[in-house]
Formats: sequence, C-alpha cells, structure tokens
Amino acid sequence: MKSKLVLMATAIWLAVSACGDKPAPELEDTAGNAVITANPLLAEWDTPFGVPPFDRIDSEHYLPAFRGSMDEHNAEVDAIVANADTPTFENTIEALDTSGESLKRVRRVFFALNAAHSDDVIKETAKTIAPQLAAHSDDISLNKGLYDRVLAVYEQQDELGLSGEQQRLLDETHKLFVRSGANLDDEAQNRLRAINAELAGLSQQFQENVLDETNDFELLVTDQADLGNLPASLVALAADEAKRRGHVCECWAFTLQRPSINPFLQYSPNRGLRKLMFDGYAMRGDNDNEADNKSIISRIVQLRAERAALLGYDSHAHFVLSDNMAETPDNVYDLLDQVWKPALRVAAAERADLQAMMKADGIDDRLRAWDWRYYTEKVRKAKFDLDDDALRPYFEVNAVRDGVFALATRLFGLQFEQREDLPKWHPQQQVFEVKEADGSHLAVLYMDYFARESKRAGAWANALRPQSKADGVVTPIVTNNFNFPAATEGSPSLLSLTEANTFFHEFGHALHGMFSNVTYESLGRTPRDFVEFPSQVMENWMRQPEVLRMFANHSETGEPIPQEIIDKITASTTFNQGFETVEYLAAAYLDMAYHVLDTNQAVEPRSFESAAMADIGLIEEIIPRYRSGYFQHIFSSGYSAGYYSYIWSEILDADAFMAFQETSLFDQGTAARYRKEILSKGGTRPGMELYRNFRGRDPEIGPLLEKRGLN
Ligand SMILES: [Zn+2]
Repeated sequence: MKSKLVLMATAIWLAVSACGDKPAPELEDTAGNAVITANPLLAEWDTPFGVPPFDRIDSEHYLPAFRGSMDEHNAEVDAIVANADTPTFENTIEALDTSGESLKRVRRVFFALNAAHSDDVIKETAKTIAPQLAAHSDDISLNKGLYDRVLAVYEQQDELGLSGEQQRLLDETHKLFVRSGANLDDEAQNRLRAINAELAGLSQQFQENVLDETNDFELLVTDQADLGNLPASLVALAADEAKRRGHVCECWAFTLQRPSINPFLQYSPNRGLRKLMFDGYAMRGDNDNEADNKSIISRIVQLRAERAALLGYDSHAHFVLSDNMAETPDNVYDLLDQVWKPALRVAAAERADLQAMMKADGIDDRLRAWDWRYYTEKVRKAKFDLDDDALRPYFEVNAVRDGVFALATRLFGLQFEQREDLPKWHPQQQVFEVKEADGSHLAVLYMDYFARESKRAGAWANALRPQSKADGVVTPIVTNNFNFPAATEGSPSLLSLTEANTFFHEFGHALHGMFSNVTYESLGRTPRDFVEFPSQVMENWMRQPEVLRMFANHSETGEPIPQEIIDKITASTTFNQGFETVEYLAAAYLDMAYHVLDTNQAVEPRSFESAAMADIGLIEEIIPRYRSGYFQHIFSSGYSAGYYSYIWSEILDADAFMAFQETSLFDQGTAARYRKEILSKGGTRPGMELYRNFRGRDPEIGPLLEKRGLN
C-alpha cells in the first residue's frame, strides 16, 4: 500500500518509510552475485555527502538491485524472527526499523528517477516491480512469527523504560501490523488478501478507463473566430496538436487534458463548442460504454467497506481517518461544513456577476456550467486588468530561486552553496549544499526545474535520503521537481505567478525534510492531512509585497516589480475563490459520502452522486472538481477518505502564517519555534499536538476564511 502511495502522490515524500519494506520469499534472484556486487546501487557510495552516484547508475541496474536488496531484507527479517533471545525493543522493533537499508536506498533513487527522468527500461521495471514490492510488504505485515515478537514487546512496554520516540516507534509499528490484519484469524486474513488483490485490479482498471476516455476525445476547431482571445502560445499548441493528430487543414485540436480544455473554456466565445468540451470532460467514465467506471466504483466501495468491517471499523472512512490528524468522519464534516456555507454564498455572488456579464453579451439565457470560466475571465479582465503573461519577466526561474533562498536565510539563517562537483541525473539540474547559519552542514538539495519528455506532469518533492540518527547521523538529501518552461537560447525560463507560487510550495516540503530531526527514519513520516501544511505555508510569503520586492526584478531591465502590479496581485488574490472552494469542497464531500457507507449499502454512482450533491445544496452551475467517473484521487490513488486533506492543511497554514503576521513576517522567534515544534518533529507526535506546541492553542478557521475572501 505504501509503495503505491509513493508512486502516485505528488509530494508525500515523507511517506517513504520503513513500513513497506517486507520480504517476498517467492522472488528469485535472476542476477548472479557477481552482477550484484558490481551494481553501483548496491555498492558503497563514496561520493561527497554520500549522494547517489548518478553518473555510474544505468537504468538496467535497478531490477537486479531491487531483487538483490529484497533478498537481503528477507534474510534480515528472518534473522529477527529466528532470534533465540527474548524479544526486546532493540532486537525486534529497532531491528525491524533499520532493516532493509539497501532496498530503501534503491527504492528512493528509483522512484525519484521514475518520476523525474524515466525511460523505457525504468517504466518496464516499475511495472514489474510494483506488484513484487506490494507482496513484499504484505508478507511482512502478515508474518506471524514477526508479529508475535512485536506483540511481546508491545505487551511489556510499561517495564521497558522507553524514550518518547521509542514509545512512538513501538506504537506505530504495532498499529501498522494491526491495521494490516495481523490480529485476524487465518480465514479473515485470506479474505483480506483477496480483497486487497481485487481492489488493486479494480483501481488499475479504473485508471485505464479514465485514460481511454480522456484520450478518446478531440474537438477540432476550424473557424478561428471560435478561439476568441486565446493567447498566441496556446493557439500554436492547439495547431500543433491538430497536426500531430494527422489533420491537414487550418484547424486547432483541443483535448480533455487540463492545459488544453481549461484555456478553451476560458476563451472560446462559442457556447455550443464550450458545452461539447465540458460534457466530454464531465461525462468520462459515465458513458455506458466499455470504459464505464460505474460498476467498478460500486465494487470498490463495497470491498473497502467489507475490509473496514473485517478490521473492526464502522466504515472505510473510519478506518482511514483513525490514522490521520482528523481522526473521525465527524471531524472532517465539521470542517467542511464550516467552509461550505460561506463558500456557497460567495459563489452565488460570483454567479450574479457572471450572469450580468453574459446578459451584457446579448445572451438571454441562464448561466450554465460551461459558461462559468468564460465569463470569469471577462470579469477578471474588467476588474483587475491583470495579464498573467505580462508578469512573467518578473519571475525568471533563477530569480525566484534566489527569492526562496533569501526567505529561508531571513527566517532560519540558512546558506546555500551551489555545488558543481556532485553527480546529478540531468545536466540541467542544480545542486546545493545547504548550511546552517554557523556554516555547519545541514542537507543537500537537488533542483530539477524544466519540463521534458522523460518527466511526468506536476511538481513534487522527495527524499533521496531522509534524515535519521538511530544508526549514526544521517543528513537529508532532498529534491524539488517542477515542469517549468525550459530556457532556450537567448530566452530565459520565465514563470507565471502560479508557477512561482509552486516553487515556494515545493521548497516548503524541502524545508520540512531538511529540518527533520528524528531518531528513527520511519518517524519522519507525517499523516496525509498534515503533510501539505509546511509546503502551503510558504505560499503565504510569496505574495507579500516585502517578499516580492526581494526578488521580483525584471529579467531584462533589472527593475523591481512596480507597486502598481503588486497592488493588482494583492487585489486579485480572493478573486473567484467562491467557485474554487465550492468545486473543491463538493469533491471532498463526494469522497466522504462514498466512504462512510457500511457493508449493507450498495451504490449506483450516478444517482448516488446526484443525491450527495443535492444534500449539500450544490448549485447547478458548478460540478465537483472530480465527478465519480474520473475521481482518480479516491478510486485509483491513495486519497480515499482523504481528499479533504488539502483544506485541512490549509487551516493550519493560514493560522500558522497569522502567527508571523501578528509579530512580523520575518520574526526570528516565531521562525525558530516553527522550526523546532513543527519542521524538526516529523511524525514523532500527533499532528495536533505539534501544532498546539507551536501555536499555544488549537488551529482556528478564521484566517483561512479571510485568506479565501469567504468571511
Ligand atoms: Zn505539496
């Protein structure tokens, strides 16, 4: 389960923990020992700071390295189980935590490359190894001999005199076994394995169906007037797409990929075409064809409920949330409800603006879902006259990087030294040694900025080596990855405001990793509804005028960003937030609705979704950000009963940033406390406890509502 999460999630790099490394006895070692010894992934890394020797690793090295290191891990686990001594914290819990080091190392490098710089061999290896890693994981959590030892230690915990972190590691290890079914009888365990296997297949099928439905659609525009004010760069992209698809005409092709459909909906004045596009997008997985996902959804929901019941929980949501900061469905609903009503009110006001704009356009009809983005763009232009393209020269990629670094220096005293001597996976990467204010070594940071074919979409951070000190001091090596437009000869890489914001976000994840100060590596992992807090909080600084003035200089003239533009950026921050919040929350409610069901309830997704949306009073002009048929977060990725996490983390980040605003944006005391109580602690204590230690009270929702303009 964990290895899947690492594959899918964008930024949950802290999830790379020891808990998934488990033996797979059925694996055969097809590579000879000689090959393994020569494999640079398994040899000692004699590089500066022990960074991976990227210059010596070939894609062909991964598969034998996986197999060799899984064998090694199997042997280590066997030795723990076979130990004749009475089970102790050291010979069982700690030994398990520090076992499988080679496998962890191979896995981290592999999955970093799989996302950032893949090739056919790596892709093939990923397909081959994913089920084997999952089996490796299952076989440990259902290893009876191992669980008996864990239980023996757990039951004598009061007499062991454990430290706080040791106690936490014991609790978490025990919990992981229990949640994986270690306490169940053989029959129930067999049923659990069968459920897990069936769910894995269904998720895979769901994802393939979404991909098919997405790729099957094309809108070919032959009348240039239908493009409206679409920016020239996007017109050129659509013309290329048409050519690529074999159309020989003066025409433009649009697809259901977000970078294609969203601009079309924003700019095309042709209402009929907008509706075609919109329906094509919204009906994916719900077309009663071969790629229909409705029966898959009802089966997934049913199996999850059954698994939760087997493990003793009221529902899948109860099961998932009990291991998260939110703890219960009631707590999630409580949060969603507090944001929902004000968001819906603001969205209704936005709708009135759009309806008026449409009327002024001479269209005598009710505003529809496919009109929303088009008229939003018109209102934005009229209200703020803010042109995203005109901002780009102020956000040259290296200037933004310098801004991010300067912020880290002002808050935490960090120093960044670029290193040309360290191996990297791509020549365009930049590598930095990060030092404390006193010059001592803190971490190594890899930056990989640009989009290219070998990189997947999105932006993310991960750890090539998480911090720990159970087995000697291990300093962190972390990465930031983006898909910024590549610099070309004579023209630098200029970021949009959103992309600059993403830079601050991912750097927040990097800081979380670099400041980690935990004993046991697996305690670096934080719950899903906490992990976006340290990243999102950094976004708050980015738009502050003082911070913009630190780095946003024009790439050609060097002139600082004018006050007039800063004012426009500030004024537009809450624009369209009613819509954004409502469409997000609707999807979060939908996710919860499916996963609070018990085993007795069967669902028919189309009517179920309608009923769930009617329950919350969603207005007709807005649909959930993801409808059921293509809600991959919850049906083929790790976010079931977890889509609420983003807004949960946002409460924390808005409220935490308020702590700085109450003193000063760069207050040293607040920064030091934030580092000590939040960033250094990983998952050594529950998230709410960490937060209280930092803020001196529970998080409050007011700052979030204010930030989104919903109060
Ligand atoms: Zn993130």
